[in-house]
Amino acid sequence: MTRTVTVLGSTGSIGRQTLDVIAHQKNDFNVVALAAGRNANVLIEQAKAFRPKFVAIADEGAYQAVKDALPGMKVAAGMDAVIEAAKMDADVTMAAIVGTVGLKPTMEAIKRGKTVAFASKECLVAAGQIVMDAVKKHGTTFLPVDSEHNAIFQVLNNGQGVRRIVLTASGGPFRDWAPEQIKVATVEQAIAHPTWSMGPKISVDSATLMNKALEVIEAHHLFGLPSEKIDVILHPQSTVHGMVEYEDGSFLAQMGPSDMRTPIAVCLGWPDRISTPGARLDLTKLSRLDFSQPDTSKFPALKLVREVLAGDQIHSITFNAANEVAVAAFLSRQISFSQIVNTVSAMLEQCHKVAMNSLDDVLACDDNVRTQTHHILKKAA
Ligand code: NDP
Repeated sequence: MTRTVTVLGSTGSIGRQTLDVIAHQKNDFNVVALAAGRNANVLIEQAKAFRPKFVAIADEGAYQAVKDALPGMKVAAGMDAVIEAAKMDADVTMAAIVGTVGLKPTMEAIKRGKTVAFASKECLVAAGQIVMDAVKKHGTTFLPVDSEHNAIFQVLNNGQGVRRIVLTASGGPFRDWAPEQIKVATVEQAIAHPTWSMGPKISVDSATLMNKALEVIEAHHLFGLPSEKIDVILHPQSTVHGMVEYEDGSFLAQMGPSDMRTPIAVCLGWPDRISTPGARLDLTKLSRLDFSQPDTSKFPALKLVREVLAGDQIHSITFNAANEVAVAAFLSRQISFSQIVNTVSAMLEQCHKVAMNSLDDVLACDDNVRTQTHHILKKAA
């Protein structure tokens, strides 16, 4: 039976790979809606290839170009249009907008009670409880796209007898660098990930290991586990993506190529298995699998996340929002690499407990943290 799919963030790394899997299985999927931020050219090409019912672009200035290029197709612009795309009646919605700007559209997709393939980890870090409560309330099938969480989801069985889960980390491009070298790393060095090809923000997050820290919070909400049952282990080959250790001593692990099309296909096909155009793992070419403890003094984000999980929701919101602002400043060459996590740490120190009862409260707090982070960065410049 053909499945209908909406892709939020279609022009990004996850969005493009989602469409790649769909193109490979074109008789099994129909694209209902595509939504993107500002990349009009790629969005137009995608819309011509997949002929969705609705095309949304957040950047209102790009509306006319997209509309003119797609005669006869329904096109709209602005954040309301992205939310409208999320409301479209699709069997599966891929939530792959980077950052908490994806929170409102993701919540709209969840409210439809169908399947949400979830990549936008920042949303779960900022509003984990609200998101997971909505998933439960609406009976939504909520499938993790992130390779580590997808791996754990595949081997978690019914969740009984879990001693701990283990998220593996490649260690990023600076795994073996000296701390002094890391401090002054350039943008080019930071986004040159050794094993994965990803968008710029998550590539920088992988270099600071902030990505892994965000993933610890993501795992806490997805699997309902406390901080002490979520471990991070360095695994430079990125072959074992995640593991569950059970009380009886068994480890169940998922292996696969370092290719996001595999976890994407798990989500698009679930509960069935579908094929992907991606690379396959050749076990005979694996000479070794290494595992080691990460060095938290070199990568302090992994230490900070434990404090964040011991704190309140404002700590999670701050951890994420300050990081988004600092990473953007690093990518536009306004701050050094070491300033990213230092800025997040400084912002965490300023946190005061605030009551957070709704999505609007979360978004207001997120906005406030961004303003303050910009302020700190301006003062430091
Ligand atoms: P990219 O930067 O490559 O893509 C981000 C996408 O979000 C783009 O399509 C962008 O549109 C879109 N976008 C940005 N702002 C808006 C907006 N206001 N409305 C609609 N769309 C918007 O990021 P990735 O694909 O790498 O990552 C996406 C998410 O998936 C992130 O949360 C990341 O942490 C997570 N993830 C990514 C992995 C990867 O391998 N890339 C692995 C695991 C998780 P445009 O480009 O047109 O501006």
